[in-house]
Amino acid sequence: MSQEKINIYGLTLEQLATQMVGLGQKTFRAKQLYSWLYKKDVSSFDQMSDVSLSFREVLKEKYCLDLPTIFTEQVSSDGTIKLLLQLADGQKVETVLMRYIYGNAICVTSEVGCNMSCAFCASGLLKKVRGLKAEEMLGQLIVMNRYLIARKETARVSHIVVMGTGEPFDNYDEVMTFIRTANSQFGLDIGARHITVSTAGVVPKIIQYGKEGLQINLAVSLHAPNDEIRNKIMPINQAYPLTKLIPAVMEYYKESGREVTFEYIMIAGLNDSDACADELIKLIKPTHGFINLIPYNEVMENSFRRPSNNRIHYFHDKLLQAGIKATIRKEFGADIDAACGQLRARYERNKAN
Ligand code: SAH
Repeated sequence: MSQEKINIYGLTLEQLATQMVGLGQKTFRAKQLYSWLYKKDVSSFDQMSDVSLSFREVLKEKYCLDLPTIFTEQVSSDGTIKLLLQLADGQKVETVLMRYIYGNAICVTSEVGCNMSCAFCASGLLKKVRGLKAEEMLGQLIVMNRYLIARKETARVSHIVVMGTGEPFDNYDEVMTFIRTANSQFGLDIGARHITVSTAGVVPKIIQYGKEGLQINLAVSLHAPNDEIRNKIMPINQAYPLTKLIPAVMEYYKESGREVTFEYIMIAGLNDSDACADELIKLIKPTHGFINLIPYNEVMENSFRRPSNNRIHYFHDKLLQAGIKATIRKEFGADIDAACGQLRARYERNKAN
């Protein structure tokens, strides 16, 4: 029955307040419920002890508190936690917790499968089935926090990166609802500056994102310094080539004042030459962006290989010397299925065999 009910985790504070007024309540009810849901993390309406018994019945009639369930789990020796979650319709999605000095970042999946078809990515092996609902993205965070509690850890999720499977800007409205709920000071209160959305480069949505009026971060999967190389590995570049993508990023920067991170996967022989570094420097200079070099995470489904550490450091130095801000991404979970979509891909493969 609960399918017909509204999942309360899918509502922003404003949306919940409007619904409470519709039920003849004062708007403060929404904050009260938020506090139970996100500060006290209850799992039933009956635990909301300062809500009258009769109104709890009304809530139970109209809303449910369904969350994804844990299907399988992997914990790496470096503390990285990877959960394969099952959604109400049986679909499986991955969510990952990575430990940094500054906090714990959850890598949230935004879609079941992905239509971007990037040549190097394991996620895109499985085409998009559907976008995730806001409550299914928030659910990843709540389930991860409960998992930490069950492990008797004091750590909680403090940062969000929407960099799991899927193209978040292909599921824009649900992603923004999720972010607003996670960011609400009456909810999970994850600071906007602690939230990053990564896109393959959906230009109109980059512009829209800049106008949201939140101090949230944008990461753009660039991966190539020119259209020729980018066309080979990212089909989206045909719709939104660099002549459209770079101006959109600059407009985003002008609008939001937030510096953009360009992700640049390093693949041997494809985008790691000196000439590529020079082109990349020219491309990025005017954008105020910084570059996150990602040593390619090899997957068994393709023949792309990671350059040597020397090559990666040489490339990095070249960017720094040209005055570009650049970092090399720290790797997590090397002893578990680290690359995006690998855990789910393996599950689907095993199921098929
Ligand atoms: N669709 C969005 C977000 C999901 S992918 C995007 O394209 O940004 C998150 C990041 O992981 C992207 O930068 C993607 O290019 C990168 N990625 C995918 N497969 C990878 C692999 N095997 N090794 C390293 N990075 C990978």
